[in-house]
Amino acid sequence: MLSKSVKSIPEILDSQTGTCFSFEVLPPLKGKGIDRLFGSIEELLPWNPLYINITTHRSEMVYKSTPDGLYQKVTERSRPGTVAVAAAIQHRYNLPAVPHMICSGYTRAETEYALIDLNFLGITNLLLLRGDKAKHDSSFTASEGGHRHATELQQQVNQFNEGFFLDGTRMDIVTGEKFSYGVAGYPEKHAESPNMDMDLHWLKAKVDGGAEYIVTQMFFDNSKYYDFVKRCRDNGIKVPIIPGIKPIINLRQLTLLPQVFNVDLPQEFATELLKCKDDQEAKAVGVEWCTRQVKDLQEKGVKSIHFYSHNALESVKRILERTF
Ligand code: FAD
Repeated sequence: MLSKSVKSIPEILDSQTGTCFSFEVLPPLKGKGIDRLFGSIEELLPWNPLYINITTHRSEMVYKSTPDGLYQKVTERSRPGTVAVAAAIQHRYNLPAVPHMICSGYTRAETEYALIDLNFLGITNLLLLRGDKAKHDSSFTASEGGHRHATELQQQVNQFNEGFFLDGTRMDIVTGEKFSYGVAGYPEKHAESPNMDMDLHWLKAKVDGGAEYIVTQMFFDNSKYYDFVKRCRDNGIKVPIIPGIKPIINLRQLTLLPQVFNVDLPQEFATELLKCKDDQEAKAVGVEWCTRQVKDLQEKGVKSIHFYSHNALESVKRILERTF
């Protein structure tokens, strides 16, 4: 069993020498069991991950056919269970679990219930995010009674940490451990930000508001990360900035990732990918590129690397074999 008090991510980073890593898992699709997820985690355990992140996915509007031949609009969450998966992982592997908490699709009350559950379960590390927009919306829209930005979600968690519920009432039992949390940062700017300075302004607000560390959006050119760290430091952002990297696993991602995540692929990398005849070759090039990124980050003394490992487990394993 996990010891009663789980260290915060910055405390874990402080106690490490050399470069370490974390990775993320998605809760299983509704109707699927958790065994496959455990199997995936166990593939990476031999390299001693520091902690495991569990993503959260908002509900989406879908049309379902009804027996009378019509269509009904319903809201459905295809990957529920972030809190339960986090608890299962933390208690099964004796490793800190870091569930993502998002504003998107959640009301403040639902967030409060999730915080209560997490507190009971001894999960104290969180990553606080606004969350992706709904697929049917052209831009992000907050739920009625929900938060518009990670900064607002932070305020709710801070208030909970101080022993107050949403309605201002005091908790009868002020629970032992407080939540510690990180937030997202964007080396190539968040897509909606008018410019980098504005993005850094809000990132600083998140850190000043209590974020203890930053995990970056994926990047494929390490110089973008080093520049970002410098700009953060110049702006008074002193917390650890954990680089997030993703091995490309198919040819489609060459155009998809820049579009969805507002990231550039360096010319050399893009040229190599364009030479690939199929996804297998693209995957090999992705492993090669990501391995170079990891080696460079290790040489520069970066404390920890976060792998965007969704659908890329085999690639992450090959990278770890060559670098850790
Ligand atoms: P915010 O910090 O709210 O920023 C969004 C935009 O608003 C930025 O342009 C920012 O500059 C600006 N801004 C910030 N605060 C304010 C403010 N107070 N007032 C006005 N403008 C402001 N998505 C999911 O749905 N589920 C996940 O599990 C998930 N995990 C992620 C993990 C990582 C490490 C990263 C980098 C992203 C993840 N995402 C996830 C995606 C993320 O939710 C999106 O990138 C989202 O568009 C922005 O989230 P954020 O927390 O950075 O938002």
